[in-house]
Amino acid sequence: MRNFKKVLVANRGEIAIRIFRACTELGIRTVALYSEQDNTALHRFKADEAYLVGEGKGPVEAYLDIEGIIEIAKRHDVDAIHPGYGLLSENAEFARRCREEEIVFIGPSAEHIQMFGDKVDARAMAVKADIPVIPGTPEPIASLQEAILFGKEHGYPIIIKAASGGGGRGMRIVRNQEELEEALDRARSEARSAFGNTAVYIEKFLEEPKHIEVQILADHKGQVVHLFERDCSIQRRHQKVVEVAPSVSLPDELRHRICESALQLMNTSGYVNAGTVEFLVTPDQNFYFIEVNPRVQVEHTITELITGIDIVQSQIRIAEGYSLNDPEVGIPPQEEITTHGYAIQCRVTTEDPAQNFFPDTGRLLAYRSGGGFGIRLDVGNAYPGADITPHYDSLLVKVSSWAVNFEQAASKMLRTLREFRIRGVKTNIPFLENVVQHPDFLSGEYDTSFIDSRQELFE
Ligand code: ADP
Repeated sequence: MRNFKKVLVANRGEIAIRIFRACTELGIRTVALYSEQDNTALHRFKADEAYLVGEGKGPVEAYLDIEGIIEIAKRHDVDAIHPGYGLLSENAEFARRCREEEIVFIGPSAEHIQMFGDKVDARAMAVKADIPVIPGTPEPIASLQEAILFGKEHGYPIIIKAASGGGGRGMRIVRNQEELEEALDRARSEARSAFGNTAVYIEKFLEEPKHIEVQILADHKGQVVHLFERDCSIQRRHQKVVEVAPSVSLPDELRHRICESALQLMNTSGYVNAGTVEFLVTPDQNFYFIEVNPRVQVEHTITELITGIDIVQSQIRIAEGYSLNDPEVGIPPQEEITTHGYAIQCRVTTEDPAQNFFPDTGRLLAYRSGGGFGIRLDVGNAYPGADITPHYDSLLVKVSSWAVNFEQAASKMLRTLREFRIRGVKTNIPFLENVVQHPDFLSGEYDTSFIDSRQELFE
């Protein structure tokens, strides 16, 4: 057991601030890093100490400067590093370097990051754990011939995926054999430029599935619990836009089986810390594993709202060596973990829906947020006068609503989105308003094709 005195967050924006808050509540001193381009970014002012990282490097490269970060951590007596999401959070080498320097990496082991970072290895682990996977190639594709054979055996459509893919990138849907050769070439070259790895594999493409994911917490003693599911089917180009917890349309019996499968995978793999197991659920009520995210997720907020469990504090306590049932963590046994009400999260971004969601930049001339009972805001770099630069991801603020039932959570969300006053930079708020008042969203009967198949959302 090692109680942390000081934690460094190797990240920026809302997630850095979210983690500082968790640390401060636990009596832990906080350290921020900021790039030259983030000189005035809000997160650096929200920590007890802040240091410039990656001098002379690019805006993103600065936050990926492993040795620079370790050097700062050692110089300032940091006990542990939280990587947030994105950036270095799924970099096994970073986790390994922390371990070598006796700095605790707040997350799973380097070995688990590596295994789940490769979708082919992750699938193999799911097969070993005896949970359902989508029919797919057990190894990366070595030749066009192999791909043609897969198509013949399983039928079209199929999807080519980069083994190291993430963030909705590195995927290509193929609808017939004629498209296959070109798609394979393109997928490979995309995978090389985006992820530095040309390995691609093929899965059957499922039509109109729901994306259901299960939040997991696991400690060093092998205790694993799930915190139920989130429905992340509201996606644009395979990227989540609006998330709901729990799922409105999942029958209890199916929910139970999906959560049990997630536990089975994490038990089999010996996973430690917080993680998410993602599944696709087809209209015929079958479910299939797609991947594990071995880190805190953007949408963890809504699980916190329905369970009352602080996922980031739990991550820190687990990394300190506590067990889930120690009073310092306070996670009840599985049968006592329950959900209360419904929560919805909207990702407000500085993207212009009228310009095909092109990121907008400039100075925020006005920023007044919505709020009120049942609203949680996780603010990134948003305040009047803030500079929105083109260097980083366009997430401005996460708005989460909670209410006893889904209809009220949606109506609270709509009311709050309408209360926002943001001038100077365009946001996707008008689009989000269209989503959360759409009858098909309110019915709960939506799937991953929801956004792309409804032109009215863009008007
Ligand atoms: P990433 O790691 O980039 O987020 P995922 O494997 O988690 O990629 O998939 C992201 C989304 O892409 C899924 O939520 C789903 O909408 C879609 N998708 C992925 N695989 C399939 C598949 N085999 N069939 C249908 N849709 C898929």
